[in-house]
Amino acid sequence: MNDKNTVIVIGLGRFGQSVCRRLVALKQEVVAVDRNMHRVEEVADIVDLAAQVDATDEEAMIKVGAKEANVAIVAIGENIEASILATSILRGLDVKHIIARAQSSLHARVLAQVGAHRVIFPERDMGIRIAENIVFPWLSEFAALPGSSYLVGSIEAKEEMWGKTLAELNFRQRYNLTVLLLERKGTKLIPSPDTVFQQGDVLTVIGEREDIDKLKSL
Ligand code: ADP
Repeated sequence: MNDKNTVIVIGLGRFGQSVCRRLVALKQEVVAVDRNMHRVEEVADIVDLAAQVDATDEEAMIKVGAKEANVAIVAIGENIEASILATSILRGLDVKHIIARAQSSLHARVLAQVGAHRVIFPERDMGIRIAENIVFPWLSEFAALPGSSYLVGSIEAKEEMWGKTLAELNFRQRYNLTVLLLERKGTKLIPSPDTVFQQGDVLTVIGEREDIDKLKSL
């Protein structure tokens, strides 16, 4: 999504405020709501519209422009009842993309049942990411292919590859990875079996985490 979205962020705790700030930095139109005035004031200067609204009040949500938003983020934390009601209201208002924050798997199931298009677990996912980044420090530079365990990212050609071709290296069998792209001195090319690797080449590879890690640590 590169176009300008109108995003309504509901619940302005640490997580909701962080989402707001990043969206503003990414030049998106942001409507921020919380039932707590103090929280509203904390973001009022940076977002396009900040309002004290109880997200379980449908009329108030319509007044603040929830219907016009193309993305809604229900960032309410502890108040599970409010997060479920707010999600249901947003779905009833036909908001096209509703992202809701869950506290537990049961909460997540209910959020999906009342209409969340995507359910997130920021604390759980951040915990997993931190742990994985300790074990696989390169992981944040790789993209996960949705719905699979494959990762795509770049890796520098290792010394054992220099002067050899993909075929000579028997690359796929040897590393259990596929090379999608080769970058050499700013030029990108799709390597053929007889492309000779050079020092400084950067390879875009696809494969499983363990295999990428093995190659990274060569
Ligand atoms: P965090 O872990 O991100 O700091 P919190 O649970 O502290 O999350 O913050 C959630 C925010 O959601 C609070 O600012 C709270 O006032 C707000 N909130 C809770 N219930 C409602 C509601 N019904 N309508 C609007 N905002 C709500």
